[in-house]
Amino acid sequence: MLLLSNFIGGKFASLKEETYIDSYNPSTGKVYARIPNSTEYEINLAVEAAQKAFQTWSKTSRSTRAQIMYKIADILESKLNEFAIAESIDQGKTLEFAKNVDIPRSIYNFRYFAGHILHTEEKSTVMDNIALNYIQRSPLGVAGLISPWNLPLYLLTWKIAPCIAAGCTCVAKPSEFTSVTAYMLCDVFKQAGLPEGVVNIIFGTGSKAGQALVSHPKVPLISFTGGTVTGKKINETCAPLFKKVSLELGGKNANIIFEDCDFEKTVDTSIRAAFSNQGEICLCGSRIFVQKSIYPKFLDAFISQARQLVVGDPKDPKTKVGALISKQHMEKVLKYIELAKEYGGIIECGGIRKKLDGEFSDGYFVEPTVITNIKSSCRVAQEEIFGPVKEAINLANDNQYGLSCSIWSENGRRARRVAESIQVGYVWVNCWMVRDLRVPFGGVKKSGIGREGGEYSMNFFTEQKTILINLKALKLHRYRVELVV
Ligand code: NAD
Repeated sequence: MLLLSNFIGGKFASLKEETYIDSYNPSTGKVYARIPNSTEYEINLAVEAAQKAFQTWSKTSRSTRAQIMYKIADILESKLNEFAIAESIDQGKTLEFAKNVDIPRSIYNFRYFAGHILHTEEKSTVMDNIALNYIQRSPLGVAGLISPWNLPLYLLTWKIAPCIAAGCTCVAKPSEFTSVTAYMLCDVFKQAGLPEGVVNIIFGTGSKAGQALVSHPKVPLISFTGGTVTGKKINETCAPLFKKVSLELGGKNANIIFEDCDFEKTVDTSIRAAFSNQGEICLCGSRIFVQKSIYPKFLDAFISQARQLVVGDPKDPKTKVGALISKQHMEKVLKYIELAKEYGGIIECGGIRKKLDGEFSDGYFVEPTVITNIKSSCRVAQEEIFGPVKEAINLANDNQYGLSCSIWSENGRRARRVAESIQVGYVWVNCWMVRDLRVPFGGVKKSGIGREGGEYSMNFFTEQKTILINLKALKLHRYRVELVV
């Protein structure tokens, strides 16, 4: 069993009171790691270390920061398998998914933002030959970064990378359910020569460590990815303290399929969009709308593929659906299935816990589930289930969430018309979950506030000041304009 410690000021630190939380391997139901149950005391220490590091890190050149970040990426890449195995055991996801998605995307987060700061320049303008405008971009200080359990390292590094690229330092708190790869990342930081205190990682619960971080007076910005209820609470804490907040929250994403789609590709990708990572991705296409003319054919093909998905040992390359994150979450997912039945939903396949033998007999597995005949007003169609449960209904915008949507049609005009009228932050046409890190990512309605990605992340972690110099009033030969980068 692994015993984790907090990472403060570049060192693994002991706790004031030695209390730990058990973290389970979801596919066996056995304890995999024990993580520190950190309190306000540890958060205070970490914020102090981050504040101290900020004095120098905020003044290092972009190229120095980028060099270290490229090194972090290289080391992480050399340990890809090790990280993928740990992520799969800790989260329940298939090893294949961790190897092909979570860890490569974590590596790319560092590479991308290193490249971003090297290759972007602030605009400066000259006004009527008499004044020079330029923008000074300053890192904001110590950031609080809070991430969820579904894509643990991927989403944590999606925050850490732009944060340190911008010259901020941070205190990060990963989910108490999946802390192991964040702990392993601390060694990578040390090996890459990241100065002490630039990234501090504190483990613990949301109510204790998370809440202490969010309400800390010396942490002026909070970047949060997680559930909508938690996001609301964080926003309530931050608003009176005038903190800058980014909230990436839940989703209930529509997958809209027209008769003129590439049928095979649409079915294959819709299966991936529905059941990858056990349906535990905020971007999962969990509500499927199919044009009437192809509905029976699509339903048959979709159900037939869903039935063939192998649920089980996450290490087995044949497995496509691993274990849900916890017993409590599995019970919640099963409750939604019961609720669907009460409201007249038809369970086309799955709908039950999957019982396995041997070491997996206590694992939290649920069969891929397809539900039809669900009314848009039903809670099953409105709320995020975050499990391998999908329904086919008709109204995409009739939902409290607005994260993403996929549209399947080869008619460009139709696809564009629908894409432009859907109330979400991100639309894919004839694909799903393809990411370009330069473009804004985020949700509308209850899916969040703010945008991440490229310059949008940079804008979050920095403050921009415009400086206008009246050139006529200056003795230019004595004045050197220095763009602070
Ligand atoms: P969660 O809200 O329960 O927890 C997320 C993180 O917040 C954890 O680290 C937790 O410890 C912490 N936390 C909990 N209460 C807190 C508090 N009061 N103060 C500070 N921190 C607190 O979410 P989860 O169950 O870990 O993750 C699943 C949710 O995340 C789903 O709703 C999913 O859609 C969402 N999600 C969104 C995106 C996105 O980009 N929009 C990406 C992935 C996951």
